[in-house]
Amino acid sequence: MTNLNKVLKERFGFNEFKPGQAAILEALIAGQNVVGILPTGGGKSLIYQMMGSLRPGVVLIVSPLLSLMQDQVGRLNFLGEAKAIALNSTLDQQTRTDVLRHLGDFHYIFVSPEMLTNPSIQRALRQVQINLMVVDEAHTIVSWGPDFRPEYLQLAAIHAQLNRPQLLLLTATATQKMLASMLTVMQLDVQHTKIVRLSVNRENIYLQTTTLDNEGQKREEVRRLVQQLRGPGVIYFASRKLATSMAGWLNDHTDLRVAAYHAGLDAVARFTIQQQFMQDELDVITATSAFGMGIDKNDIRYVIHYHLSRSMADYVQEFGRAGRDGQSSIAIQLYVPGDERLQLDMIRSTIPSEQTVTQVYGKQIDETLLDATQLELIHYYQSQNISASAASAIFARRLRERLNELQHLLHYVTLTSGLRDELLTT
Ligand code: ADP
Ligand code: MG
Repeated sequence: MTNLNKVLKERFGFNEFKPGQAAILEALIAGQNVVGILPTGGGKSLIYQMMGSLRPGVVLIVSPLLSLMQDQVGRLNFLGEAKAIALNSTLDQQTRTDVLRHLGDFHYIFVSPEMLTNPSIQRALRQVQINLMVVDEAHTIVSWGPDFRPEYLQLAAIHAQLNRPQLLLLTATATQKMLASMLTVMQLDVQHTKIVRLSVNRENIYLQTTTLDNEGQKREEVRRLVQQLRGPGVIYFASRKLATSMAGWLNDHTDLRVAAYHAGLDAVARFTIQQQFMQDELDVITATSAFGMGIDKNDIRYVIHYHLSRSMADYVQEFGRAGRDGQSSIAIQLYVPGDERLQLDMIRSTIPSEQTVTQVYGKQIDETLLDATQLELIHYYQSQNISASAASAIFARRLRERLNELQHLLHYVTLTSGLRDELLTT
């Protein structure tokens, strides 16, 4: 244990483990297969990074999201001591061949489930000594939701082919039922698998999703909710305009005191609203994601999401502003099927297309017609002497990452809706 703490401090610069990390590491060191269910942001990656520095051999990480892979590879290579690589669809044929020939040089290998079913990759992996096989976001093994991957059904067979290296499944969301299915798919038996589970939900925040047919119903639902729920509340919107108009509408149609908060307000206005909310001179804030940082009101009783957040991480942050005092609170996601289009459009509008990049680089477009964020990004890459095609490739990747994140959130929100009773009893 003291040794683990030492490695934590010296290699990773952290003073103490986050909840669950040490328990999982100890079980892994003892040779057990482990399922770790820790909340988003709970530090799941540190666990396999650390196993990589405690034992020789390759840590093989199966990861469903490209964005997560690239992020981890970047971080590990930055940490310096060990080489990391991501085997996924973005590698061209030549690079892939080169990498496979020297696979033993890598200490951390990230692979998408699709790639793992590739025979040449399996062959190459059989040549290296695998210290630990990790399945990140392991809930995706189980067949639900839109991004169900049939490749996962082959995971157990591949695991067997690789001589059954020790297995670590990591996820932030797993009901008992999902956990049982995950174990079945991976052919692990409960008796011989260590399960480390931390509550993913904040215990005092009841999560709920209400699906409605249209915008009109949604607005009425907001009015109904704010009148029914007690105590200070926050309603998150994806648009400043709607946050503002809803504040007006709620002031007109309820007896509550409501103000809008977003980054378009000047500092004085924002400060004033914050103060009024802190001192209970306002009941409800209609906000964009700009609301939250540095706001330290611990008795927020409810958080309503009128739109989807930008990502899972944003969502967790935002609903997590409820109930800091530990008193029971509620987080309600309102959802009209198709709501994700708004976020999709926003993502698309801030990430330049290949055509736009080419036009800006070639000075073939009136720049005043372009979105300021897009333009700024393109100019930045130009100033770094990065070619138009390389910049386009980066933007395309970023777009895919953002879309993945959104998908992930949608998944979670709909899951929470369908299975919330189950989630609450685990
Ligand atoms: P998860 O995959 O569980 O969502 P991550 O592995 O991405 O979470 O970790 C979230 C953050 O927590 C990262 O910034 C990571 O560096 C940090 N972190 C991990 N372990 C610790 C620790 N023991 N102490 C402090 N920060 C940590
Ligand atoms: Mg993670």
